[in-house]
Amino acid sequence: MSRPLRADIDLDALRHNYQLACELAPNSRSLAVIKADAYGHGAVACARALADLAPAFAVATIEEALALREGGITHPVVLLEGVFEASEYQLAAQHDFWCAIHSEWQLAALEAATLPGPISCWIKFDSGMHRLGFDAEQARAVKERLVASGKAQDLHLMTHFATADSLTPDYFQHQMAAVEALAAELALPLCLANSPATLAWPQSHAAWNRPGIMLYGADPLEGANDASRRLKPVMTLSSAIIAVREIAIGEPVGYAGRFVATRPTRIGVVACGYGDGYDRHAVDGTPVLVDGQETVLAGKVSMDMLTVDITDLPEAGVGSRVVLWGEGLEVNRVAASCDTISYTLLTGILPRVPKHYHGSQAREADPMASQAVDTCA
Ligand SMILES: *Cc1c(COP(=O)(O)O)cnc(C)c1O
Repeated sequence: MSRPLRADIDLDALRHNYQLACELAPNSRSLAVIKADAYGHGAVACARALADLAPAFAVATIEEALALREGGITHPVVLLEGVFEASEYQLAAQHDFWCAIHSEWQLAALEAATLPGPISCWIKFDSGMHRLGFDAEQARAVKERLVASGKAQDLHLMTHFATADSLTPDYFQHQMAAVEALAAELALPLCLANSPATLAWPQSHAAWNRPGIMLYGADPLEGANDASRRLKPVMTLSSAIIAVREIAIGEPVGYAGRFVATRPTRIGVVACGYGDGYDRHAVDGTPVLVDGQETVLAGKVSMDMLTVDITDLPEAGVGSRVVLWGEGLEVNRVAASCDTISYTLLTGILPRVPKHYHGSQAREADPMASQAVDTCA
């Protein structure tokens, strides 16, 4: 028998969540954002599972885009931060990668490039995030230079919201007003909405949206929005109890003795640790499911193991199934106990954790399709 830790990926839930993004924004096209290995879910598998629904994908690096091509994905792929060096424009032109342009050097490199054909360019406007992009005056000049270069086609204007996940509208409205004014002046189609804006800010739905985290069923609005309650978790991270300890009052458990028993305590040792991507910041009291019942982490997370309190679950023992997050346990709740967000937990899953794909698309989606694939009964 092999180690019981696994990530089960429900591709029907992924499709459901993508379709929800489309349903909420019926007049937009939605890029499926599958950067960072589809937020830890496997980019090629997720792209294959969405191939008949999504018109295009979005990633952060050209290596991620090329991996999709190697996986047989022929859709346009948006490079959300554009190129990192000038030579990437050759590959972009060759492979139909659409490039964000956020910096003067990217523009100058494109003007200087000798390319087999024009590149679809998305001008990145800094409407208030103050991370990447041009101000309005620069964006006007960028558009003119792109047009004059003959190296760009299908120009779009994109911006990223700093506060779309907060339900206080002031700063969001400020960014919206800035980008709408500029788009009207430049007569360019827009791409604005990330997941929270897709869910909560219909006015931001434009020619294209860019939902990411919501596709994986994690709610960026933490239940504050009705639509987000329809999201389904895609990844279930689960393992099993591999040993049980009876701990007397006053005895510690694990590194640094952080947890100390205040009653006679049964501890279940679970095969999952920070070497798998489970966050070591998880506090005592972090929720876990054992045989479908909720209990808590007790003691610091180790590299390969973690410990849970099963005192109140007398039936639980070696072999009991443990859900770390996913079906029946929202990843957001675990993230809150780790002082982080769902994004870091999901993207943090390490290659040691085997992924199992389920759903109607599982056979086509699985990069290891020649090996046995479990499908939902
Ligand atoms: C990652 C990313 C997104 C997706 O954001 P979510 O909050 O995951 O929906 C959208 N746009 C850009 C530019 C990004 O980098």
